[in-house]
Amino acid sequence: MEFELPNKALTTTRFSELNPPLSEKVLEALSESGFNFCTPVQAATIPLLCSFKDVAVDAATGSGKTLAFVVPLVEILRRSSSNPKPHQVLGIIISPTRELSHQIYHVAQPFISTLANVKSMLLVGGVEVKSDMKKIEEEGANILIGTPGRLYDIMNRMDFLDFKNFEILILDEADRLLDMGFQKQITSIISLLPKLRRTGLFSATQTEAVEELARAGLRNPVRVEVRAEAKLLNAPAASKQPESTKTPSGLQIEYLECEADKKPSQLVDILIKNRSRKVIIYFMTCACVDYWGVVLPRLSVLKGFSLVPLHGKMKQTVREKALASFTSLSNGVLLCTDVAARGLDIPGVDCIVQYDPPQDPNVFIHRVGRTARLGKQGHAVVFLLPKEESYVEFLRIRRVPLQERKFSDDAPDVVPQIRSAAKKDRDVMEKGVRAFVSYIRAYKEHHCSYIFRWKELEIGKLAMGHGLLQLPLMPEVKHHSLSTEGFVPVDDINLEDIKYRDKSREKQRKKNLQAKKEAKEKEKEAKPEKPSKTPSAPTAMRKKTARQRRAQQTIEDEEELMQDYRLLKKLKKGTIDENEYAKLTGAEELL
Ligand code: ADP
Ligand code: MG
Repeated sequence: MEFELPNKALTTTRFSELNPPLSEKVLEALSESGFNFCTPVQAATIPLLCSFKDVAVDAATGSGKTLAFVVPLVEILRRSSSNPKPHQVLGIIISPTRELSHQIYHVAQPFISTLANVKSMLLVGGVEVKSDMKKIEEEGANILIGTPGRLYDIMNRMDFLDFKNFEILILDEADRLLDMGFQKQITSIISLLPKLRRTGLFSATQTEAVEELARAGLRNPVRVEVRAEAKLLNAPAASKQPESTKTPSGLQIEYLECEADKKPSQLVDILIKNRSRKVIIYFMTCACVDYWGVVLPRLSVLKGFSLVPLHGKMKQTVREKALASFTSLSNGVLLCTDVAARGLDIPGVDCIVQYDPPQDPNVFIHRVGRTARLGKQGHAVVFLLPKEESYVEFLRIRRVPLQERKFSDDAPDVVPQIRSAAKKDRDVMEKGVRAFVSYIRAYKEHHCSYIFRWKELEIGKLAMGHGLLQLPLMPEVKHHSLSTEGFVPVDDINLEDIKYRDKSREKQRKKNLQAKKEAKEKEKEAKPEKPSKTPSAPTAMRKKTARQRRAQQTIEDEEELMQDYRLLKKLKKGTIDENEYAKLTGAEELL
């Protein structure tokens, strides 16, 4: 019959040869989607789940894990109850992001639709919980697919949902689901499910926490581990046996050692060299994505590039549009946070650039795994500051081999252009400061703090690399006397004079300035001359000389920042817990 090109990511086992055998209907759905041969993880996992085993599966990104749980889930439900009542929940698939839940939901549809009378429901945040509840009430829901927060919310509120006949729970990207941020919700969801059920954990990076859950929620789990053979490019002939790696074998990963002030120019150089390709760039924070998303399109050398920003603080509809538009492009650039790091299967991504390395080293693997999926070739570059170079060795030990990329000497210096964009539009200037501040704060939270030592951050070069006009004032920079070397302020500029390009916004700003001025004058009249301020006032708030004021770029949301510091202190002291902290600081800033 069909004759396929050999794909080294597939086994020679056909889905039709698996034991216990799959149903005719599922086999049809598979071949209609063009899936005939199993990937290694599918060949190993499907028979296990179908024969009542719990599994903890650890296989590289892009190795076909989704079908490895969707197929058994559907088969198990086919065998269990032929006619479930509308509010009998039989299966749940949980994943950490809305985007990934969407994707799983769509991959699963052709298979779920082979089950008569079984209804699946996508449950993610960003839409009214009430409308989800109404839909479930009216249409019923036997399979729930979604993110932990919304799932738990629904399960908790809708007490007529019936879990008595529940069959199977799947946690995709399990290690992420079980880390601090989600653990509570996952545990609560599990507490509502019967103990007698099947559970599958899937990830490319299993961790200690997963082991813990394996003990708590899984019955005699079988561990499935599928590793890729390392193709050690450029490795000397005599060097070791081929090692197994944690990354796909068609993926070449490079690191680029680069000072902070040279990063934008090197980035632009990489983008130009990959003009006809599909590229994802990862940044440290949402504010960084916001900033580079407005700055890069203003650079003349990037004219004609499709640049799409995506992060978790965007409105849900904007997020969806961004992802759909990048997916449909044949060449273009996605600027994003780790909200797009895990599990997303975007077709044809050629190159991954990590402009900033991730806080959590496990995320490294998930980011680069957006390319070289299922046996394809791909290319990734991570920027490292000279002081961060030991990260290369750190990753090598963790079976993630990196090669050095040469610094491009002929890259055009784009910093002057960025600065001139900031002078022309207050929005650019402010976003730059925010990105810079958020970067320093996020850098502090690196998990490998002995490699990423924030006290050694050279913030002068960092500020140059952000195209800032003047060095912002940050309390911690002063307190820890971080190096400001390498920063050349733009002279003859009064930052207050920089206008928003957006006319109505500028009008509003003028109004606000005027109002502030009037309020101050009134205050002066009301209480003349106060004695000097308390010495304990934070440095940032102390009175500055006019010269200092000119030399320092204002942080518009300074107040907000100070508030965050106070909360962080409370968290450290234990006055508030992680969840409250996340809520109060606007949760998941990195996503
Ligand atoms: P993972 O979850 O391991 O990162 P995915 O489940 O997202 O990987 O699958 C990666 C890609 O491989 C998807 O585009 C999917 O359609 C494709 N794929 C999965 N299984 C097969 C198969 N048996 N044959 C052909 N393509 C497959
Ligand atoms: Mg996946």
